[in-house]
Amino acid sequence: MPVYSISHVENVRVCVVMVGLPARGKSLIAQKIVRYLSWLSINSKCFNVGSYRREIATDTVVDAEFFDPKNEVGMNYRQEAITRATTDMMKWFSDDNGVVGILDATNSTRDRRDKILKLCRENSIEPMFLESFCDDQDLIMQNILDVKTTSPDYLNRNNEFAAEDFLKRIKFYEQVYETMDQKADADLTFIKLVNVNSQIILNRIESYLESRIVYYVMNLHIKPRSIWLSRHGESEYNLTGQIGGDSNLSERGWRYAKRLPELVLKSLGEENKHTNLTVWTSTLKRTQQTSSFLPYKRKLQWKALDELDAGECDGMTYEEIEKTFPEDFKARDDDKYEYRYRGGESYRDIVIRLEPIIMELERQENILIITHQAVLRCLYAYFMNVPQEESPWMSIPLHTLIKLEPRAYSTLVSRIKADIPAVSTYKEKGTSQLGELETGTASKSRDLIRDSELAK
Ligand code: ATP
Repeated sequence: MPVYSISHVENVRVCVVMVGLPARGKSLIAQKIVRYLSWLSINSKCFNVGSYRREIATDTVVDAEFFDPKNEVGMNYRQEAITRATTDMMKWFSDDNGVVGILDATNSTRDRRDKILKLCRENSIEPMFLESFCDDQDLIMQNILDVKTTSPDYLNRNNEFAAEDFLKRIKFYEQVYETMDQKADADLTFIKLVNVNSQIILNRIESYLESRIVYYVMNLHIKPRSIWLSRHGESEYNLTGQIGGDSNLSERGWRYAKRLPELVLKSLGEENKHTNLTVWTSTLKRTQQTSSFLPYKRKLQWKALDELDAGECDGMTYEEIEKTFPEDFKARDDDKYEYRYRGGESYRDIVIRLEPIIMELERQENILIITHQAVLRCLYAYFMNVPQEESPWMSIPLHTLIKLEPRAYSTLVSRIKADIPAVSTYKEKGTSQLGELETGTASKSRDLIRDSELAK
């Protein structure tokens, strides 16, 4: 049976029009929305007008004066950039069945927003304005130092010049900036975030898709934090190659559980060794046993973190599944993301049940999650933007702690191996055999290579 996403049910297409002065987090919010919706199989894409401008304005100096509203050359380039971005976006909506397009630019005047509104209406696309308003000068300066001094606009310029020039650029934008207003923009659909999320103004949010975006954006915060992911220690079922079940840890699995507190401390470093983490596990014994030596008081169990339900195949080995249900075995290899076990779940089903977990993770600070292979792949795919068809094939070995550190435009990943051997539970496509024993020490295994590629 096909699984429909929100967008199929409603048949709505939305253009999210970002609004706000430079360095207000618009690009970051836009990229996060695209990552979240793509993870939910909603076809989404961000069109960043700054990148278009950089592509075309190659024969002129782009410093603060370029953004002076009286600078004709600058204004022409900027107009050309927005025209190209909106044209590409409309083409993407029609040719690629786009569902949520995000126009990432300052869109700071009512005149500009009216033009986009008109274009959306002509193309039967719902416009939704998303403004990030921020007058916290310390935060703005911090944002400039964090991401703007390294922008391609300041290649070969030092940080001091870049920060000063960027502040001047903002001043030019301020001359013409018109914030979203409940009276003047009463007829429009908009979200206005004031100083991150200390106040949120919502106006005429209508479709379900729009309300999902609102709910997601409302939960975002920008405090630095880390997320740790670990599979449970090796289990008795892992030793026999059986899938599913609710078995206890093996002797080596218990050794991993005892080692885990030390691995977490190592990843925190000396300065942060007193950081308090919250530990989330599934409701299955092997994840709780793995968490049992961790010294943190807050430990929560989530049913949503339980392993993929293998239905009629629960408790079988891959060899037994191949013999008993050869067609299912092949169907799963052909499309592992969509394949649903008889009476059980698919990867897509897991993503749907993990959505509240993702939402809560966005709200939280330091969290350590101990869960299972398939669930971990889906969580990891969200943070690292891994395409759905690839995520079920990622290797996430036992006895390895993964630390994710979300940054403005990327996520840093480190993997800390416990140095305790464990069986491999990784099955290649087209075989029922599992990999060889993992030594548990850092090696050139495929997962490490994959991480360094993604973290760039
Ligand atoms: P520009 O218009 O120059 O492209 P921008 O508004 O897109 O700027 P970003 O490049 O996304 O700004 O800036 C990222 C910085 O903004 C990050 O340091 C991030 O922590 C911070 N940030 C994220 N969300 C918000 C928010 N709601 N309010 C203020 N700052 C935020």
